[in-house]
Amino acid sequence: MSVLVVGSFALDTVETPFGRADNAIGGSAMYIATAASYFTLPIRAVGVVGGDFPPEGIAFLEKKNVDLEGIQTIDAGKTFRWSARYHYDMNVRDTLSTELNVFETFNPEIPSSYRRSRWVCLGNIDPVLQLSVLDQIEKPHVVIGDTMNYWIEGKKDDLMKTLRRIDILIVNDSEARLLANEPNLIKAGRIIREMGPKIVIVKKGEHGALLLTEETVFSAPAYPMESIIDPTGAGDSFAGGLVGWLARTDDLSEENLKRSVIYGSSLASFCVEQFGVEGLADLSYLQIRDRVREFKELSRFEEHEPSYGEQTSP
Ligand code: AMP
Repeated sequence: MSVLVVGSFALDTVETPFGRADNAIGGSAMYIATAASYFTLPIRAVGVVGGDFPPEGIAFLEKKNVDLEGIQTIDAGKTFRWSARYHYDMNVRDTLSTELNVFETFNPEIPSSYRRSRWVCLGNIDPVLQLSVLDQIEKPHVVIGDTMNYWIEGKKDDLMKTLRRIDILIVNDSEARLLANEPNLIKAGRIIREMGPKIVIVKKGEHGALLLTEETVFSAPAYPMESIIDPTGAGDSFAGGLVGWLARTDDLSEENLKRSVIYGSSLASFCVEQFGVEGLADLSYLQIRDRVREFKELSRFEEHEPSYGEQTSP
């Protein structure tokens, strides 16, 4: 099943307690498209880069068979840049700078070959651009969207319009609280569901993810990693794995939505093992399946009700 991915292509500078990367190839669309490419094809990318975007970034996506017709190159402009510093607790990061550069004047033009994409994944970019993409697609089957504090604080009205057209929203815990103005995540999920998306997925970093639908609250564990090198892109890899799995199976049942959260978590766990997109460079479908099975073991337990004689007296 076809998946259209729109988002940022970036040069990221990140500092973690274990090292730093300067101008690493990244961006929300880079991570989403790469993660999704392990499950289904075609993956169609939409975005913009400047003349300074390294050819290795394009070659990386070509190797994953991502369709690049929808990527505009503005030779005279600079690629979007983002920099962040992670704390010792790597769930916490400070954004040091966001330079929109070619994004400031970006006007997404969806190639005609992309217009009938069944699955659309709106990576974290300006909600006005997300909406403009949706306006150019003929009746997408499912729209999955991501956003972040930057847009919730800066473009709330536009974001509210986009939310009405999103079926599955993926946000992290602090974004869910900010968007709903509600500290409790279950209640926040309910409030966000009234804004449009019928399915809300809340990422909680190393504490896993919550799937919230009308009928279900499903809590997925996070993979207990011994070595996290760079958490950048974990959220986008999660979204890419999730949309890739859903598009591959074309099944929105509650059970399959739960599976998609685990496939998303699995891709996120590979992503954080190395700096930038390297952790997603050379995976095999089997490796992904094995990790999904490990996830299953993580929270499986046997129930045991002691018989009367076994019970200890108080
Ligand atoms: P994640 O760690 O999954 O939240 O995503 C990190 C990626 O998002 C980095 O590669 C950044 O380049 C990109 N990013 C950060 N801020 C923005 C923004 N305001 N708009 C678009 N992309 C962004």
